Amino acid sequence: MTQKILIIDASAVINDFSTKYSDYRLVTTTKVVKELKSRGAIEDLEERIPKPDLIKFVSDIDKDLSDKTSEADKELLALALEFRAPVVTDDYGIQNIATKLGVEFIPVLEEGITKVIEWEYYCSGCRRKAGKSGVCKVCGGRIKRRERK
Ligand SMILES: [Zn+2]
Repeated sequence: MTQKILIIDASAVINDFSTKYSDYRLVTTTKVVKELKSRGAIEDLEERIPKPDLIKFVSDIDKDLSDKTSEADKELLALALEFRAPVVTDDYGIQNIATKLGVEFIPVLEEGITKVIEWEYYCSGCRRKAGKSGVCKVCGGRIKRRERK
């Protein structure tokens, strides 16, 4: 049986991803391991050297986006392409390029990054939809808000 692979970004370790994914084979680059060691974060990760042609492929996509992705980020994405595995990251730059590459990514701190609440306003008396504040123009009831579904 082959174990499922995840590509691990430094931000994932810092945000304590490992409690969620203890059954996976965890792969990362030498740069990430070095960064983690310098921060005193220790995690049992498998180090891999990404293929140069895949790094170049990522760089070309990155140029099109005119984004400023670091070398370390490009290497991670190259590994994700090689292993056809998702990247665990909270780094917005990596997530952005991953989307362009068709690489799946898994945020650790999912809520707070992706969830944007939209409100709608309604009258607590007659239940009509209403403007932002004050009282209802129809019945004079108080205006309340709720999450738009
Ligand atoms: Zn009303």
